[in-house]
Amino acid sequence: MGIFQMPDALANKIAAGEVVERPASVVKELIENSIDANSSWIKVEVEEAGLQKIKVIDNGNGMTEADAEKAFLRHATSKIQDETDLFRVNTLGFRGEALASIAAVSRMSIKTSEGDSAAAWLSIEGGVVKDRAKSDARKGTEIVVEDLFFNTPARLKYMKTIHTELGHITDLLNRLALSHASIRFEVVHNGKPLFNTAGTGDMLQVISQVYGMSVARKMLPVKHETLDFSIDGYIAKPEVTRASRNYMSTIVNGRYIKSMQLTQAIVRGYHTLLPIGRSPIVVLAIEMDPVLVDVNVHPTKLEVRFSKDKALFTAVEETIHAAFRNASLIPQMEQKQ
Ligand code: ADP
Ligand code: MG
Repeated sequence: MGIFQMPDALANKIAAGEVVERPASVVKELIENSIDANSSWIKVEVEEAGLQKIKVIDNGNGMTEADAEKAFLRHATSKIQDETDLFRVNTLGFRGEALASIAAVSRMSIKTSEGDSAAAWLSIEGGVVKDRAKSDARKGTEIVVEDLFFNTPARLKYMKTIHTELGHITDLLNRLALSHASIRFEVVHNGKPLFNTAGTGDMLQVISQVYGMSVARKMLPVKHETLDFSIDGYIAKPEVTRASRNYMSTIVNGRYIKSMQLTQAIVRGYHTLLPIGRSPIVVLAIEMDPVLVDVNVHPTKLEVRFSKDKALFTAVEETIHAAFRNASLIPQMEQKQ
């Protein structure tokens, strides 16, 4: 068999395997696009944990009709233009493959308007436009994804129960809301309200919506600036702990990320205050020059690489340690080690 170059439809389906693991991945990519479009309100409607339907509506910038036609094509993005942009990404998206991947494995429709002209409406099935029309104009975008994995039966078979898939969606929404306290989130599952935030910009208020009032009351604010990093957030007093490490949220330049080393730095910051086998509840928002963080590690963009990693981990550890010292939770004697 000679070499042949794949048509886009096939390449998109293959890429979709990495980007769209489950309904929660679709919710993540769509909400991140809404955030990148400067939305202050994002409404998410999910049916059957997203296996049946996911609808994301925002009041962001919207797209022109011409852009809507390009948005779901492979490697189509408005967020980077050249290689230098790749090293200073300041949006959540930049790979231009989320909509292409989602469109390849679902029935999708896009309704979008920049507000000044009629909205464009497109219906796409398995990556191919099936229908297009003009619609009523409202600034913003509405994307509907139905029948996820209808054309990838092997993947569909791997979907877990509604309960599990909904758990993934809820976990994701919590992190996105914690990372974007100034955006109002409205989430509905099977017609019932699931999750709401006020969008006031107050992180503690979101913490109280996500983890409850009693946890929010036990949080200490932390704030620290170094030459390279600014660290801001809330850490739970050691009397409130969890059995799982899942309650530590690390946000870098507005992006929720997973970093074993960052969570380890947080735990070290608690010093001897945590009971053995228990983990803290922490939300840390870290800002740094985008040049210092490589977000292009994996298609899901959950992992990043820091160029000044040691300095960052030390700063995080010391920020937390100092907060407890100031709150007199650490006895003077333990300070030097
Ligand atoms: P990326 O986010 O990496 O650029 P996507 O495939 O997620 O790639 O989206 C492609 C493009 O479609 C985006 O760059 C953006 O211009 C446009 N787009 C997608 N969703 C929205 C939205 N909700 N509002 C405005 N523009 C959008
Ligand atoms: Mg995107």
